[in-house]
Amino acid sequence: MTEQQQRDVTVIGAGVVGLCCARTLQRRGCTVTVIDHVDPGMGTSYGNAGIFSTSAVMPEGKPGVWKKVPGWLMDPLGPLTIRPGYLPKLTPWLLRFIANTTPRRVEEISLALSSITMPGLEHYTALLDDVPSDQVPIRRQGCLYLYPNPADVAAAAPDNEVRRRRGVNLEMLGPDEIRQLLPAIGPEMAGGALATESGHATSPLALSQLLAARIEADGGRFIRAKAKGFAIGAAGPTHVHTDHGNVEVEDLLIAAGAFSKPLAKELGNNMPLDTERGYHMMLPQPNVEVRLPMLISSLGFGVTPMDDGLRLAGTVEFGGTEALPNYARAEALLTHAKRLFPDLNDTGREPWMGHRPSMPDSLPVISRSNRFDRVFYAFGHGHLGLSLGAVTGRIIADLVQDRPSDIDATPFRADRF
Ligand SMILES: Cc1cc2nc3c(=O)[nH]c(=O)nc-3n(C[C@H](O)[C@H](O)[C@H](O)COP(=O)(O)OP(=O)(O)OC[C@H]3O[C@@H](n4cnc5c(N)ncnc54)[C@H](O)[C@@H]3O)c2cc1C
Repeated sequence: MTEQQQRDVTVIGAGVVGLCCARTLQRRGCTVTVIDHVDPGMGTSYGNAGIFSTSAVMPEGKPGVWKKVPGWLMDPLGPLTIRPGYLPKLTPWLLRFIANTTPRRVEEISLALSSITMPGLEHYTALLDDVPSDQVPIRRQGCLYLYPNPADVAAAAPDNEVRRRRGVNLEMLGPDEIRQLLPAIGPEMAGGALATESGHATSPLALSQLLAARIEADGGRFIRAKAKGFAIGAAGPTHVHTDHGNVEVEDLLIAAGAFSKPLAKELGNNMPLDTERGYHMMLPQPNVEVRLPMLISSLGFGVTPMDDGLRLAGTVEFGGTEALPNYARAEALLTHAKRLFPDLNDTGREPWMGHRPSMPDSLPVISRSNRFDRVFYAFGHGHLGLSLGAVTGRIIADLVQDRPSDIDATPFRADRF
């Protein structure tokens, strides 16, 4: 390995994205320091639905999506809400979001997304190939798209057609096959589509902790501090200012999830990053057997069996990074889930809220800065940060080490806006 490739990289953010980047760089011979003010994996990476969505090849914004928005906003249990008062701040992001819903943009975004989502799990396998498989909290049992009503089957058909075109393996299931797969389900379901190659984390936190433990065991440094800004010289940042002193940096990676915007801005990149807040309800003793994760798109949430119970996770709430949680949204998930699983037991339930880091074109920023040669960005993974952690690490390591990559990272560049 040349000296050029053995870089000294400081990563801001110990979420699954920052940790995957740090671990990939370390395994390739770099020295890594990770700065975060909370324990590894305790940000948004803690509470997601845990699904490695290898079949997620469509952007959040689809042609005509805006027509559905008024109906969603009027439904108190609906999948989308905007906090009163946040709309003016959100409007520029929303306009960009809508601009990305033309059929041409959707096709371009879908191609870019599929290049990283479809191989997403393979990259985790490679990243964790030095860990005994029984210690890796990942299962590959597929993911079921569940369609309660005939209208949901019809509404999902165009997306499923795109999935097939991209090469996603989907098995279409009828009501009887769904009942066999999910005996605890109450009402008859209209149908489902099983994405056979997807997987799930039995504990997203355990996955982050595993990565952090490997980084630390191999000499990586964790600094418990909040990054506040930078000392910037002619060639780029020389130090990170934190609430616990200054940290000298050589290469710098911003991977602070939904909180990356002010850091990137200080480094010269004003990115249209906002947050789609999401909720989960953890049920420690669910009393129903659910063997594989499922997504009910029409209701905007997923149900995932995890080591410590059943997790109901989803919904989108625009309200910025500072507003307090509204746990009524987590209760709404429970209301929906009880309609599907009438015997569901919610004793000891725990609600949670987290911040998806969301770009208006549904594509992450995985990029070298266009201002400073030794600054890199890995944020904005929206609904797919768990799925894309390892592949992001791979792209970032190629960029940091100036290696040719077999993944075209052009669609994820920071200067695309
Ligand atoms: C309800 C819900 C369900 C989801 N389900 C899925 C799913 O099934 N599959 C999937 O792929 N994705 C899912 N996601 C999305 C996924 O969780 C996120 O995209 C992902 O966690 C983002 O990871 P991250 O590392 O970028 O951010 P985070 O996990 O938020 O990590 C960022 C870290 O940066 C730190 N940080 C921030 N600012 C600073 C600072 N100034 N100084 C130091 N540290 C800082 C934070 O403390 C945090 O630890 C879901 C999200 C939600 C909310």
